[in-house]
Amino acid sequence: MASKTIHMKRYPWLINPYKIIIKQHQIKKTHHAFLIKTIKGLGVCKLILEISKWLLCNHRNGIKCCKKCHSCQLMLSGNHPDWHQYISKKDEIITVNHIREINEKIFKYPKQGKNKIIFLSNIQKMTESAKNALLKTLEEPPKNTWFFLIDYNNLRVNSTLHSRCLIYILSPPLEKNSLSWLKNQNLLNKKLNLIALRIYQGSPISAKKFINDGLWEERNNLFLYFLKSIKNQNLLKILPILSIKNTILKIDWICLLLFDSIQLYFNQKKKLTNFDQLELIQFFSSNYNYFTLHQSIYTWTKCRYRLLNIPSINSELLLLEQLLKWEKILSFVI
Ligand SMILES: [Zn+2]
Repeated sequence: MASKTIHMKRYPWLINPYKIIIKQHQIKKTHHAFLIKTIKGLGVCKLILEISKWLLCNHRNGIKCCKKCHSCQLMLSGNHPDWHQYISKKDEIITVNHIREINEKIFKYPKQGKNKIIFLSNIQKMTESAKNALLKTLEEPPKNTWFFLIDYNNLRVNSTLHSRCLIYILSPPLEKNSLSWLKNQNLLNKKLNLIALRIYQGSPISAKKFINDGLWEERNNLFLYFLKSIKNQNLLKILPILSIKNTILKIDWICLLLFDSIQLYFNQKKKLTNFDQLELIQFFSSNYNYFTLHQSIYTWTKCRYRLLNIPSINSELLLLEQLLKWEKILSFVI
């Protein structure tokens, strides 16, 4: 089975993309700069790693690497001198200095075999000047140097960087395939699995993490308090639960619930993410118009942005301010 030999049995949705990309290399119809647009939680780094193993292997066997040669051994131990990954940590930023470092590396002769790989695992983590410097490198790269870049930005806006790369879109697997994958991971509550998948735009890995990390219980608890606070027309009741931990995630859940209310407003019941929270969704969609729902999402998004981007902000105060603002928007207070 191909799935076994290319080490992607864990993430079966990567097998086809792997085959497609390797095929492009085999028929020499690829590009030195390869940009993958995708969402988090599909295992795209694993995909790049497997493609890199193949590119660096000295004794390939069709679409597989040999796993035995010196290059394969070095990749296995994570020490290949021609494999350079950047942005592997969460808060790492790529600056012009990193691009200079990359340039130094690629203009030297490969240490093993003939290929060299530069992997930038999140282009949103690059400064503007780093992107500009990289553009110059991509204009005339040395032979046998392969760039892999990942873009997690779901907006369709493409930069000059995109125009210099071959773009590949890695989409989430079909919902039914993800559901059977989650079932195979011993997650047997189908309803829960489906909601988790929809919260994470169809990403099976993120859905699994959501369930295993106990976030499901946290979400239910938040919505329970939320419903009570709505009934009492006192949103401040959710302040403690909102500020104690996972604040950003909880804001995302509230926004998704509001999106659901908009969906229901337009009669799209089948597309709901939080279909277990119909009482809350119905409350919003029957009492408020599209404009108010949209405005609610907007203020939450703004609050979320400020929480993430203003250093040493008093988050509890900010949340309090947001909840009071929201009460006004929802006409709880006049
Ligand atoms: Zn090999």
